Amino acid sequence: MAKKATKRPAARRSARTPGKSAGTARRSGRTASKPDRTARKRTPRGGGMKRLQSAASQRRFALQQRERGRQIGFVPTMGAFHEGHLALIRKARSQCDVVVVSIFVNPLQFGPQEDFTRYPRDLARDMDRARELGVDVVFVPEVEEIYPEGFATKVSVGPLAQKLCGVSRPEHFDGVCTVVLKLIGIVQPHRLYLGEKDRQQVIILQRMVRDLNVDVKIVPVPTVREKDGLAYSSRNRYLSAEQRALAPRLYESLRLAQRAILVGGVRDPQELRRMMQAHIREGDPPLQIEYLALVDPETLEPLPVLTGRVLIALAAELGRARLIDNLLINVPGGRMAEGIAHQRKGASGTERG
Ligand code: AMP
Repeated sequence: MAKKATKRPAARRSARTPGKSAGTARRSGRTASKPDRTARKRTPRGGGMKRLQSAASQRRFALQQRERGRQIGFVPTMGAFHEGHLALIRKARSQCDVVVVSIFVNPLQFGPQEDFTRYPRDLARDMDRARELGVDVVFVPEVEEIYPEGFATKVSVGPLAQKLCGVSRPEHFDGVCTVVLKLIGIVQPHRLYLGEKDRQQVIILQRMVRDLNVDVKIVPVPTVREKDGLAYSSRNRYLSAEQRALAPRLYESLRLAQRAILVGGVRDPQELRRMMQAHIREGDPPLQIEYLALVDPETLEPLPVLTGRVLIALAAELGRARLIDNLLINVPGGRMAEGIAHQRKGASGTERG
């Protein structure tokens, strides 16, 4: 450990929270923000990355870092890295002194008929990518380390876990929350980096840390997409060339709805859902839509009329892959929007929805 600390660039050694660094800088007569920013952008650092397998060694590492006043950023993953994972790691690297990434395919969040055993695993390549991005520790526990004989306690999420993806995956979010809470206990992070591609997961974990007084700041990171709009996902590997060509329709349909709301003034969720369904269902073989919902992003309850923040979320099956995507939009509310919606109804002469 001491060796590692001395190897660390001087600027990184002094990097703390923005507040602390600014204070230190002011006292030493330097400008407030410059040294800190330089410090956190000093990546990749190469070499020196640790791979830890036991919860005890990972926790020991965390406590040592905390004693030194270092901010720990944590990126939990199931591995098989793609650009989405890398964006989370880069964000953590730019904001924290120490970056810990976990790679753990969590059996608790897979249903009995799901793809736990064939879920893509690519540890050697993941380790290389993590090293290139200046990760400090990759935590790679075995299943027995996380769920030893006799393990029995689980997080029970409540109603949010039964909505959207929870309809077809009733145990999924309890499994996610259980493992993330355990990992937080082991990694002891200050910040937790989560992808907005899994928006329901972000919403549920935000609720969990609030409800259970978990002292960590959640940092959501925007969805990273391929050029044609398909969100990166480890499960995209399951797609045949033909299926891959159809997959961008999911994001296209989200954009279609977004345009209809923001430019076309549509406020009727049923009309938007029909529009999206029609777009997704064109094609052969069709994508099987599992759900397509316009909901309140706090409660995940369906919205009868669209105003304020609206989450448009969908899941579909395409061959062996189950794909999800979403867009969060701000719908202009108030009288003007209602007026536009009313005019549209009047103009078409039909009742929408
Ligand atoms: P996973 O390995 O699929 O459990 O994902 C690990 C983390 O990466 C989660 O917080 C995901 O939301 C996030 N993630 C997955 N795909 C993307 C993406 N395309 N863009 C941004 N974050 C993502």
